[in-house]
Formats: sequence, structure tokens, C-alpha cells
Amino acid sequence: MNDNLLKMNSVNVSDDKHTVEYNFSMSGKSYNIYFKTKDVSLIPTSEALIALTLIPCMFSNLNIRYHGNISEVFYENLKTIMEIYHAWYQHLSIIEIKGFEKVKYPHETDGRSGVFFSSGVDSFYSLLKNKEDITDLIYIHGFDISLDQTSRREQTSKLVRNAAENLNINVIEVETNARDFLVNFGPWNKLGHGAALYCTAHLLSHSFNKIYIASSHTYANLHPVGTHPLLDPLWSSEKMTFIHDGCEATRIEKVEYIADFPVALNSIRVCWKKDSSLNCGECDKCVRTMLNLYAIDKLDECSTFDKKLELKNIMKLHALSDGARVYLTQNYQHMLEKKPNDPLVDALKKVLRRPRWQSYIHYGIRNPGEALKKISKRLHKK
Ligand SMILES: [Zn+2]
Repeated sequence: MNDNLLKMNSVNVSDDKHTVEYNFSMSGKSYNIYFKTKDVSLIPTSEALIALTLIPCMFSNLNIRYHGNISEVFYENLKTIMEIYHAWYQHLSIIEIKGFEKVKYPHETDGRSGVFFSSGVDSFYSLLKNKEDITDLIYIHGFDISLDQTSRREQTSKLVRNAAENLNINVIEVETNARDFLVNFGPWNKLGHGAALYCTAHLLSHSFNKIYIASSHTYANLHPVGTHPLLDPLWSSEKMTFIHDGCEATRIEKVEYIADFPVALNSIRVCWKKDSSLNCGECDKCVRTMLNLYAIDKLDECSTFDKKLELKNIMKLHALSDGARVYLTQNYQHMLEKKPNDPLVDALKKVLRRPRWQSYIHYGIRNPGEALKKISKRLHKK
């Protein structure tokens, strides 16, 4: 163990309790991380502070010493949380967390149940499956859409609010720059994304006794990733429980489920392309979702995909990663089952049979920078 400590400079809360700002220094650099919302009060807790700083401190081998009450159940789970991160990523050290006073929090909240919601397939599935229980959608600005993309942010916020209004559910929109900080200590989707969700939830823990986190993968395809059925429950306290939801269903099963709800067909957003307004209709994620909807004759009813599903866009798909191959294989099997004589089945078969080196060349011509990154990542793995 070392004596190096995370240097906390300040934790500030605005008078209206709508903004919380953390200021701390690590390895000679200062960071100012904020969370703000107009929709609810934010209360800085020891759990939120640890959620935000644990991975950076494990990365930098810095211990955390701070004062304040901490949930006993949360504190007891921290050892296992660190052991999981360390087993996944051995460069993350097990650190000491001290100075806090363990208490059993009373189980008193406003009794609300939230779901982190992005208007994508996974979160729509968890929302609709648990809609009798869910009182609030929590949408976070600054995750997949960067904070300077004002127009995309406004459009997405509108989609989220429309969905909530339709289902008579409350919305909480939170804005944060936590991503800019957390990406310095590991890949966003594999580590930082989860940390930022846990932190946001603990800032809201005076109101919620349950928060659903939608799964991205099934029980059959679990791997180390920022939110995970092993990890999420461990981040709970006596007051608030995290539920990792949806591992029982594949992406296709989720699309089939949500396609029965007009609210989903009018609000689904899957595209992460920076220059697209909602769904570009051409990137891998858009095309795969469009294929799922097309196979069950729901694509025409979906108002958030303007473009037609074209054969040339199927041929542009590439199984560059093992994850992409899993999704494409599921797409192929689904089409084969629903529309065996459709020409798109053959196109998917060709994509899956294409040797990986050929995929890299095709992909590389269109995205040279990204392709180099992916190749170096693969070589690094080996
Ligand atoms: Zn797209």
C-alpha cells in the first residue's frame, strides 16, 4: 500500500441544490467535475464521491481518505468491487479507502424507481418491461452526445420527454462533464460509463430506492464492461438498489418486444454518429436495428428512421470485432427465420463469410484513423 492520496480540494453545492461540483487534484493535475439538473435536488454523498473517483484512484494507485458518513453495505462491497475491476484490468490497483464513518442508512427515500434512459433499444426495453414500477426516466447529457452538440442534445431531450409524457412518467435530465475526466483512466464504455452512472444515481439517492440499468449484453455474452450484472448490485446502499436489467434478452428479442409499443417506434434512437441528427440510417448500429425491424415488418412504422434499408448498406457492414460478429450472426439467423427468401439474407451471409483482413481493408479505406486504432488494439490483445 502507498501513502499517496487523492487530493480533494472542494465539494460545492449551489444554493438551489441543482449543481454539485467536485474539485480535486491527481498526479499534479486539477479537475473540476460538475453535475447539474433543473429537475430535482442533488445531494453530494460519500458514495457519489467514491463512484466518481474509484477507477481514477485505482488507475493512479492513490488511496482515498475523506470524512463523512458512508453506507455500511456500500463500504463493505467496495473490496469486492475493486477485486472485480482488478481481475478484469490488472493495472488497476486495489487501494485503501479510509476516514469515512460507516452507518446503516435508514431506508427513507421518496420511494421513486428510475431507469437510466437514452431512447435506445436496451433502455426502452427495460423501461417498457418494468413500466408499472418505474416513476422516472433519467437522461444524462454528456455521455454519447458531447455537450457541445447542442442541436442533437435538444432533439434527444425532446424524444426522451415525449416518451415520458406518453407513458406518464417523470423525467430528470442531468448534465455532466464527468466523461471528459473519466476517459483519462480507461475506455469509456468499459469503465467510465458505469462510474458516471453510479455517481449520478448516488447524487439522487435521497429520492430513489431503486434504479434500473439496462444491460447491453445477454447472460451468454457477458464480458468486462462499465455496467455489469456482477458489479451494479454491489454499488447499492441501504437506501438505493441498482438493478441490472435485460440480460435475458438478445438485442433482437428486445427490438421485437419494444416494436409492439408505438411510443418506442416514434422515439427510438440508436445512432452514435456525431454528424447525424437522430439516426443516420447507414452506420452499423442503425442498419442492424433497421434489419431487426424490417424482419418483423415494423420498419415502415418507425418514424425515427428516414432512410430506406438498402442492400448496399448491408454490404458495408463488417464483423471487425467478436462483438460485431455476434450481432451480425444474430441478424442473419433472425432474417433467415422471418424472411428466408429475402435478398438481404444472402447479403448478410456474404458479410459474415468475408475474411477479416478484407473487412479491415474495406473499413480502412472509409475510416483510416479508426481502422488503425482497431488493428493496433487487436495486435495489442495478442
Ligand atoms: Zn447511424
